[in-house]
Amino acid sequence: MSGITGKTGVLGVIGWPVAHSRSPQMQAAAIAAAGLDLAYVALPVEPARVGDAVRGLRALGFRGCNVTIPHKVAVIEYLDELTPAARGIGAVNTIEVRSDGRLVGHNTDADGGLAAVAFETGADAGGADVLVLGAGGAARAVAWGAAARGARRVTFVNRTRGKADALVADLATAHPRTDFRVLESPVAADLATVGIVFQMTSLGMKPDDPLPLDPALLPAGAAGLEAVYSPLETPWLRACRARGLRIADGLTMLVGQGALAFEIWTGQTADREAMRRALVT
Ligand code: NAP
Repeated sequence: MSGITGKTGVLGVIGWPVAHSRSPQMQAAAIAAAGLDLAYVALPVEPARVGDAVRGLRALGFRGCNVTIPHKVAVIEYLDELTPAARGIGAVNTIEVRSDGRLVGHNTDADGGLAAVAFETGADAGGADVLVLGAGGAARAVAWGAAARGARRVTFVNRTRGKADALVADLATAHPRTDFRVLESPVAADLATVGIVFQMTSLGMKPDDPLPLDPALLPAGAAGLEAVYSPLETPWLRACRARGLRIADGLTMLVGQGALAFEIWTGQTADREAMRRALVT
């Protein structure tokens, strides 16, 4: 499809600020690859107007939108329905506008992240011993997703212990079959059975950031996922790969969540390679 016409459907991303978002270029690539008559735009929405913006999606005939910082929690009260993942994680990154006008909140960070690591490394969270570095929004999403897939154990390592403890208290209620724990300064013996590691802190974005964890503490066969995608090759990713660990990069996670959103809105399989290419060129 080329050019916008009176029939072009509209998708977008709401955030504040949102001009830096890479979703428009990534989703435009998926739309072009599928040959759909859709446009995807960045929509700056100031926090006081989130309700107006969400209600406006229905009024303006949007197919759906992505939701980014700082609105992922605030949009919830304006939606008609949440998927189990969105409810369990307590955050929405994708809104689907159904044909009957119902607004459904999804969270594709969890499934996108887990699918990305499974696709890139072959590692599946089912029955696995999972390590999560961080206790913010991204950590919560992948931990919830790993537990929902039947992870045997989820261990958190985070700078602020209290945040990890609060996360464990919350997740343990929803996932009684997963063993959750928090470690402050793990040693190799604590992590000997870790199969998948999710690096979900923002460390690595600044050149002088320390490593979130020494990869030498991880068992040789571990696989994992890095959340940071700017820079694409973080010092932690480089150090893990030098140790022979199979780690998917932050763009894999970004594409994973975006591809699932595209599939929710369009019902068509997203061309993940085209989406990734649009981000690296
Ligand atoms: P968040 O809620 O603000 O959480 C940030 C996490 O990083 C917290 O655990 C925080 O620890 C930790 N942290 C920050 N600075 C630190 C430092 N100097 N030393 C040690 N720990 C530090 O952010 P988020 O939304 O979870 O996002 C985390 C990262 O993932 C960001 O870089 C974000 O861009 C990226 N991300 C990527 C994708 C993707 O698709 N690739 C998706 C979502 C997020 P405290 O609890 O101690 O503050």
